[in-house]
Amino acid sequence: MQTQTKAPVAVVTGASRGIGAAIATELARNGFEVALLSRDGNALEQLQQQLLKAGGRAWSFPCDVANRDDVTAALGRLEAKVGVPRVLVNNAGMGGPFHRADEVSVTEWDQLFGVNVDGVRNLCQWALPRMKAEGSGRIVNIASIMGLFGGAQSSTYAATKHALVGYSKAIAAEWGAYGITCNAVCPGYIETEMLAKAPAASRQRLLERIPAVRFGTPEEVAGLVAFLVGPAGGYVNGSALVMDGGLSSHL
Ligand code: NDP
Repeated sequence: MQTQTKAPVAVVTGASRGIGAAIATELARNGFEVALLSRDGNALEQLQQQLLKAGGRAWSFPCDVANRDDVTAALGRLEAKVGVPRVLVNNAGMGGPFHRADEVSVTEWDQLFGVNVDGVRNLCQWALPRMKAEGSGRIVNIASIMGLFGGAQSSTYAATKHALVGYSKAIAAEWGAYGITCNAVCPGYIETEMLAKAPAASRQRLLERIPAVRFGTPEEVAGLVAFLVGPAGGYVNGSALVMDGGLSSHL
């Protein structure tokens, strides 16, 4: 009699569109059972149906990552239905606000930290002890090159992404002995709705500074994440991997 092994579970936040949707699609293609999280339940269900049609296994758990109670409730449902994840990809994030540091309101600052940083903490604090009990886990936090460099009109975003890089390295140091890796991926400019919101003139200025002379694609980021959570990625831990078409090679 053949025993059926259960597919490993991957949680992907911000899976309703853009980079997160591409990551979820790639991980499903690589044999993971994917749990899709974001606020837009309809968009999640659409992607879920798409992945199921393609022969994958996928689940939707709508929630606001910044709201700890909401996250805890969604993760409780996830654990009951799908089990403990082997992979956690913290991708949900917000861009902006695009103004000078002295013009950033406390509300804007708190909102960005709530999603980009507290959101990641909420998921990690839930996942880490469970992964430890399983003896293995892979966490990937989607930061940004703004997590390694600064940029005018981006102080809050840069602060949140620097926080993520530091958090990822600290988790790697603290949890590596339990078979858990944690890395930050630092994309440059990737063609998604977030980038589409930037004014045309700034998009053009950016393109002129990118040696590849194009923006990256969500699928390229997904490929790097798939490597990190796959068999070849096991010894990469505590790294901040840049993927920016060469932009930061001459900042
Ligand atoms: P999009 O704006 O296209 O997508 C953002 C995703 O995050 C959506 O799925 C959104 O879903 C989800 N999200 C936002 N807020 C919350 C929340 N409070 N709770 C749950 N989910 C939330 O962005 P990208 O795909 O471009 O970006 C994805 C990640 O990559 C972000 O962390 C971003 O900072 C990072 N990044 C992007 C770059 C780019 O050039 N595009 C460059 C470098 C990094 P919903 O609205 O359904 O909640």
